[in-house]
Amino acid sequence: MAPLSCERCGACCANLPSNEAEGFVDWVEIEDTAPLLRRPDLVRKLVRRDAAGVPHLRLVTSPGAPSACAALRGALGRRVSCSIYHLRPRPCRTVQPGDGSCLEARRQHGLDEA
Ligand code: SF4
Ligand code: SF4
Repeated sequence: MAPLSCERCGACCANLPSNEAEGFVDWVEIEDTAPLLRRPDLVRKLVRRDAAGVPHLRLVTSPGAPSACAALRGALGRRVSCSIYHLRPRPCRTVQPGDGSCLEARRQHGLDEA
């Protein structure tokens, strides 16, 4: 099987249908020490706090597409990029192409054959 290309995927940057079904609205949690939180311009656009005040990446919705991270650019399964790649929080750095989280995200977004 050819290596997975994150640039042609983005599945782990979009909310999973199983989460959507449960009404899950808090996306990736941002650790207190994340450099992203020291950028007020980006915080305003990309971060929301949950009921407990914990910062998370914001989810945005587009017609005909699953809700996805506000930092994601492009079209899922075609050409995508992370607009804060060097500032992305720690959980974003743990998912690796081909690991369990990756494959589950791809399966749920119908990208198994991409
Ligand atoms: S789901 Fe896997 S292949 Fe797709 S962007 Fe995430 S890590 Fe990369
Ligand atoms: S910050 Fe970047 S890597 Fe993390 S979920 Fe958003 S688009 Fe994906």
